[in-house]
Amino acid sequence: MDCLSPSSPVEQVVFMKGAQVGGTECGNNWLGYVIDHTPGPMMYVLPTLDMAKRTSKQRIAPMIDEMPDLQEKVKDPRSRDSGNTLLTKEFPNGVLIFTGANSAAGLRSMPARFLFMDEVDAYDDDVDGEGSPINLAIKRTATFSRNRKILMVSTPNIAETSKIEAAYESSDKRRYLVPCNSCGHFQPIVWAQIIFDNNDPTTTRFECIKCEHKHYEKDKPKLLSKGQWQAEEEKSNKVAGFHLSSLYSPNGWYSWQNAVEDFLAAKSNPIQFKDWTNTVLGETWTEKGETVEHALLYQRREHYSAEVPWWVEIITVGCDVQDDRIEFEVTGWGAGEESWSIDYIRLYGDLSRQGIWDALADMLRKTYTRQDGTRMNVAQVCIDSGGHYTDEVYAFCRKQGADWAIPIKGSSQA
Ligand SMILES: [Zn+2]
Repeated sequence: MDCLSPSSPVEQVVFMKGAQVGGTECGNNWLGYVIDHTPGPMMYVLPTLDMAKRTSKQRIAPMIDEMPDLQEKVKDPRSRDSGNTLLTKEFPNGVLIFTGANSAAGLRSMPARFLFMDEVDAYDDDVDGEGSPINLAIKRTATFSRNRKILMVSTPNIAETSKIEAAYESSDKRRYLVPCNSCGHFQPIVWAQIIFDNNDPTTTRFECIKCEHKHYEKDKPKLLSKGQWQAEEEKSNKVAGFHLSSLYSPNGWYSWQNAVEDFLAAKSNPIQFKDWTNTVLGETWTEKGETVEHALLYQRREHYSAEVPWWVEIITVGCDVQDDRIEFEVTGWGAGEESWSIDYIRLYGDLSRQGIWDALADMLRKTYTRQDGTRMNVAQVCIDSGGHYTDEVYAFCRKQGADWAIPIKGSSQA
């Protein structure tokens, strides 16, 4: 919220989030603040005009009614000449317009000093043949380029097309770190540290990455109250990006146990698991075919100082099967399909015997630690099945899970 105040140099706030962390509420509070303290033209964009109408009626109208300061400024819609309709709320020195990202006319309706774009990943890529609704809306703020404020909020969707992730990647990428109750080590609350035993959600806890101290739901308020935002990248201070998964949901909203229950219910169904990844982790979903393709398109190398650089979001492995060895490369992937080679291993042995395949399985199940302390597993493995050990490769993939280890023909030519 500080970034949205007029005293902050930040011009654009990007909030990529899971469900139940209060993203829309944060935008609505801002909206109330604008009406009350820094009035000016404000535009509130929802994915469709219908959603805009619903939001105005079901969320904003009651909020104005409940707050005397706002009620005084925004006149009752029932009085004549109130300047107050479903999509327009006038107040002294300002106006709030609701519109849909599916209406170019609505997005062009007026210059805006304040722009609130909610659920941007549900926006169409193109509106009425005029291009991106986001760009169209941002153009309306150009008149106020010296004191505008833009807020983008969304739960992310597909990695390749996510608008909120693209915006977040252009920001300074802030994550919320909490201090361990035992050793004080600051760390993000990540899924890899949400531990449960024997598929039993009642055993759920958040374990410190450093000392393995177990935090339970009752410890959450203390963790959250002592936390702090930390930017991953030093970039222009004009775009501030925030990421919060539902693992940060306040007590009583959505618990870690809820997240585990939903995970167990969703994990074997790709559509449900995508939905869980988007709404609970607040992360984009990478289509499987795309991941394989990315893994094959490995091109660049860089030197890196730690095992896995900060900006790696997913780890994949490509295996080349030779007559006397398996060679595999561990690759980390970040934004914009940029990749870093993390490890390269040659495993020699008799490929007709089980031993080397078991050794390979062990090595692929290794956990890598990213610079921020997050433990990462290999998300996807591709294995060349075009050599002399096709049957063995297929058997390996079946045993490891054919959606995790994928046989590929001629992987080296890609
Ligand atoms: Zn600790």
